[in-house]
Amino acid sequence: MSKYIFVTGGVVSSVGKGITVASVGTILKNRQITVSVQKLDPYLNVDPGTMSPYQHGEVFVTQDGAETDLDLGNYERFIDVNLTAESNVTSGQIYSEVIAKERRGDYLGGTIQVVPHVTGEIKERFKRLAQSSQAEVVIIEIGGTVGDIEGQPFLEAIRQMRNDVGRENVLYVHVTLLPYLSSTQELKTKPTQHSVNELRRMGIQPDIIICRSDYPISEGTRDKISLFCDVKQQAVISLPTVSTIYEVPLILEDAGLGQLIVSQLSLKAEPPDLSQWQEIVRGLKECHETVTITLVGKYVELKDAYYSVREALHHAALYHNKDINLLWVQSEDLERDDGEALLRSTQGILVPGGFGIRGIEGMVKAARYARNNKIPYLGLCLGMQVMVIEFARFALGSEKANSTEFNATTPYPVIDLLPEQKETTNKGGTMRLGNYPCQLIDDSQAAKAYGQGLVYERHRHRFEFNNEFRSRLQEAGMIYSGLSPDERLVEVCELANHPWMVSCQFHPEFGSRPGRPHPLFRDFIGVAKNVLREGAQPPLPLSSSL
Ligand code: GLN
Repeated sequence: MSKYIFVTGGVVSSVGKGITVASVGTILKNRQITVSVQKLDPYLNVDPGTMSPYQHGEVFVTQDGAETDLDLGNYERFIDVNLTAESNVTSGQIYSEVIAKERRGDYLGGTIQVVPHVTGEIKERFKRLAQSSQAEVVIIEIGGTVGDIEGQPFLEAIRQMRNDVGRENVLYVHVTLLPYLSSTQELKTKPTQHSVNELRRMGIQPDIIICRSDYPISEGTRDKISLFCDVKQQAVISLPTVSTIYEVPLILEDAGLGQLIVSQLSLKAEPPDLSQWQEIVRGLKECHETVTITLVGKYVELKDAYYSVREALHHAALYHNKDINLLWVQSEDLERDDGEALLRSTQGILVPGGFGIRGIEGMVKAARYARNNKIPYLGLCLGMQVMVIEFARFALGSEKANSTEFNATTPYPVIDLLPEQKETTNKGGTMRLGNYPCQLIDDSQAAKAYGQGLVYERHRHRFEFNNEFRSRLQEAGMIYSGLSPDERLVEVCELANHPWMVSCQFHPEFGSRPGRPHPLFRDFIGVAKNVLREGAQPPLPLSSSL
């Protein structure tokens, strides 16, 4: 039977709970304990797929095609597992299920209530994941902050679990913030005391408190939290802000968290081995030469909207012993007459995914700039569609070439709705989602990157390359380097006569891992790092005859 670790957050959101959960997974996995992870999102949406990236950040897509919270991306990258739809539970899903059951008559005669029906449905999801994953430990993160109205049924459900599966099988971890007061130069514990009180009001006494702060906490502060919150002194763990998130598992391990969890849950464990992880962190913290990459997107004000893309770039740079100098360009800014100046120093251009017409012309301009100036270009999903639009305008000699997403009546609809999307009216969960196969053609840049012919990648789109235009663009120099095995869909395209302009209809960023960069990102950086741009100084020739 699985054991459960429930992780709640206190004081403020964005305190690093997701990274903490991912790191707990890492340190358990490195003790040869099998783990699975689940994120509970108390909002009423069924999934984040219909939310604006400004509201929610990136939507992370699992292999089985679920649109999920971006924390799942961190779980996958840290624990190196491929999760499924079962790992993200929202209030929307829970209430939809309870109401569907009520309509079916499953509760005939009963009054449907938050306790026990809603909490029962939540607990069912915990148990379902435990069953399907067969993990020794299931780590469950409760989204939001203790005290949120929407979070109450979830807290009540995790409280009940201690009785349901036995006290010895459940651990409560509270991640909280210790604010620093510069006037008195101290970290304050009072907000943490209050949030633990709030938890206790719900019947939950935390076993471990992880203290996020900008500075390490002193012994005195630990004693105080231990005393007021009734937690053993060694179970008050300090987690100061660090330069790379990948260092968090090492810090928690050093603080004794792994041993504490193993003994509290009486787990069978091997000695921890974090050597691979230490290697990655050492590489990330070393100073390297930088590669300047420009990300041209429409949601760039919120970096979390491109979370996995940014991580994948860092993984790829680490492979080449480089650091990324990532320039974020709002695509609308490129639409100005002098917009191209924003690209003058870049060594590589990346256009990520997105929806809707705003900023599209700026992205097209970026693709044109990359093509004309032979700057490496990586297009992801929308980024591929933009590359096709730009190339079609050049090849067909008409600026009217477009996607029907942005111009329904264009005479050159080079990107159009997938046929199976034409009848779709519901917006939620109806895109082409999750893993699909892609056959790469020999000798293409894409095939060289992957080193194999058949690959599976994660998708999230409604529009596709319009096959009517395949031959005309091919004649002008476009190569269809990846197709669906039935050859119906263009999955990867690239340009002949260009050092590296490669785009894909899928989202390779979701498959990248620290220490195992995605091949397309790896080769994109591999080419970009050798590009010399304005202001860059080429190495001087060292010749004795000079
Ligand atoms: N809007 C485009 C489509 O639906 C691209 C989607 C994306 O970039 N994820 O096909």
